[in-house]
Amino acid sequence: MGNPLRERRTAADWAAVSQVIEIADKLSGFERLSAIVEADLSALDADRIPAGWRDAEVLVRLAFGFADAQQQLPMVDCRVETSVTAVCQRCLEAFRLPLQVEDSLLLLEYDKDADGYDEYEVWELDEPLLRPLDIVEELLIMAMPFSAMHVELAACRALKSSAEDSAEDMTTPFAALREQMAQDNEGSA
Ligand SMILES: [Zn+2]
Repeated sequence: MGNPLRERRTAADWAAVSQVIEIADKLSGFERLSAIVEADLSALDADRIPAGWRDAEVLVRLAFGFADAQQQLPMVDCRVETSVTAVCQRCLEAFRLPLQVEDSLLLLEYDKDADGYDEYEVWELDEPLLRPLDIVEELLIMAMPFSAMHVELAACRALKSSAEDSAEDMTTPFAALREQMAQDNEGSA
């Protein structure tokens, strides 16, 4: 059997068998997302683009079912995790940006709506056959920040230099304050 993310079935078919798809795929399998990452990285000189960014693992868990007892409303619980290579907009270096999405989607045909299912996001089906990969890819694309920046502040070169500067400036007033507080505590003890 091939990659179930690439199979096309109706939403009702996926839901009727309570299909669970648990798979680790590579970023390169998601063409639109890869194109976005590639466009972002193209701002860097070739030797500063980390090799193998297309091989990043995308961990997927999708669980299809019905939201209603009458089995009229197909839905899917999604959990997707990966980390894409992005360019930090503060220091202009490449870094690994973790993306994690958890969402429950109501799979509705165009023009249909369902009241009372606020816990779901509506996923509008624009064609009769649904390819799970398209859902995963869309969720990841929507999770991408408009302006990517180092998550760990210590890793960001732009912040490191400014943090060091301000650390020097701050030493004196904070040290004095700390000393004052220590004295006050001793006094009250
Ligand atoms: Zn940075």
